[in-house]
Amino acid sequence: MFLDFHTHDARKEAGVQNIYNVILNAEAMADETWKNREAVSVGIHPWYIDAARTEETLHYLEQVVGLEVVKCIGEAGLDKLRGPDLRVQEEVFIRQIRIAEAEGKPVVIHCVRAYPELMALKKALNPAVPMVIHGFSRKPELAAELVSGGFYLSFGKAIRDKPYVQQALQEIPAKRLFLETDGEAEIKEIYSRAAELRGITLAELQEIIRQNYSTIGLINK
Ligand SMILES: [Zn+2]
Repeated sequence: MFLDFHTHDARKEAGVQNIYNVILNAEAMADETWKNREAVSVGIHPWYIDAARTEETLHYLEQVVGLEVVKCIGEAGLDKLRGPDLRVQEEVFIRQIRIAEAEGKPVVIHCVRAYPELMALKKALNPAVPMVIHGFSRKPELAAELVSGGFYLSFGKAIRDKPYVQQALQEIPAKRLFLETDGEAEIKEIYSRAAELRGITLAELQEIIRQNYSTIGLINK
């Protein structure tokens, strides 16, 4: 089984289980067909924070967080290159972490150029729920720092051609690793590349990822 931790691609593929990301906006709140999927993550993406609707959207999130189909909260987080002022992003992010905490579900994190802020925030809040940074595409030194800060990292298409991301993937402890397409790659290709880089078999890699899904409560043991 190939487990795609994060995608925006609604297609279904044999042998693949994915967590489909629902960006909470007016449309997703009006058309709830996403509730019929197998597994979703639901949250307010920092790019799409709409100050006028934030309270309404958070309230909606509180109502759906307990659904069986909702596996994670997110993607949520901080982005210094896009979206509203970082203070606003932080507030919306913190509110979502608290909702995740109340339900005991992992948080899927979108982070761009705001890693110091993200690490400080986790230290201050010290959430008990797993925090998974999706689409990790930075250097091994940062990966190591994040791992010691307790984060999990999900790797995707950047492992195809970025040597420093490949090195980060090679060095991260197996128990902190997830893989994803973000809807922009084939999960089977990501798995074979990752297995090759780590010098293990595809079956061994699949077992590692399955274990990690189990560790953070996404599948039963
Ligand atoms: Zn995404």
